[in-house]
Amino acid sequence: MGSMVTAVASFLDARNNGGNWLLRIEDLDPPRESKSAPATIIEQLIAHDLRWDGDILYQSSRNDAYAGALNKLLSLDLTYPCDCARKKTPAVYQGTCRNKSADEIQSPHAFRLRLDTPEVSLVDGILGPQLWKIGSEVGDFIIKRKDGLFAYQLAVVVDDAFQHVTHIVRGADLLDSTPRQVCLMERLHLSVPHYMHLPVVLGVSGDKLSKQTNAAPVSNQDAAGNLKQALTILGQSVPKARDTITLLEEAAANWDPNRIPKKHTVSLP
Ligand SMILES: [Zn+2]
Repeated sequence: MGSMVTAVASFLDARNNGGNWLLRIEDLDPPRESKSAPATIIEQLIAHDLRWDGDILYQSSRNDAYAGALNKLLSLDLTYPCDCARKKTPAVYQGTCRNKSADEIQSPHAFRLRLDTPEVSLVDGILGPQLWKIGSEVGDFIIKRKDGLFAYQLAVVVDDAFQHVTHIVRGADLLDSTPRQVCLMERLHLSVPHYMHLPVVLGVSGDKLSKQTNAAPVSNQDAAGNLKQALTILGQSVPKARDTITLLEEAAANWDPNRIPKKHTVSLP
């Protein structure tokens, strides 16, 4: 239901504004992901008549684009290799490898962004003005991992630009990623999209609803019921229609982001 809420909100916001709603499968880290997960997500979206525009973009097909962005940052001296052991690295990176020469770095190594930005601020469409002290709270962060995989932060920024994303509607659990993504966009001279961070839906135990916390998956048999529950969580008026297409059309026409709870979390009603 947590993912359903995010899908419904982003879908309705796009439809209400005459925009396109894009589907991207973030399968950067294949060993950790279930092979069937993308197929299940696609089936659920179709069952709920949440139809996306254009082709699905798979991050697993985008390695060359991420490598291009890394090379651009390297040529601008905005990234540097880091061979620090993960276990020994404090939560806020202290810049240990910042000024090391290439022959002082062992392989395998990661790449970190040279930050030099103390603060990032933006106005979130739901949560309002946000300010992050990224320099003291995050430090130079990883954009390519030691195991050779590109970091999520770099991949999404490159893909957002590639897909001409202007508006991002997602869960507040990703709020902490936003300043890192904004820094990367600025370094790569990409325009920063408009953000709306939705409250994360918590189950009765107070955990985020997800596969990891064994939340029950939404049933495709009750698509209209699921859409109505998502609309209730989002503070929207709930149309009486029983078929999903009419329900979504009416919900898109009535869509009012000002009614979304301005909170980081909400409990399942
Ligand atoms: Zn290091």
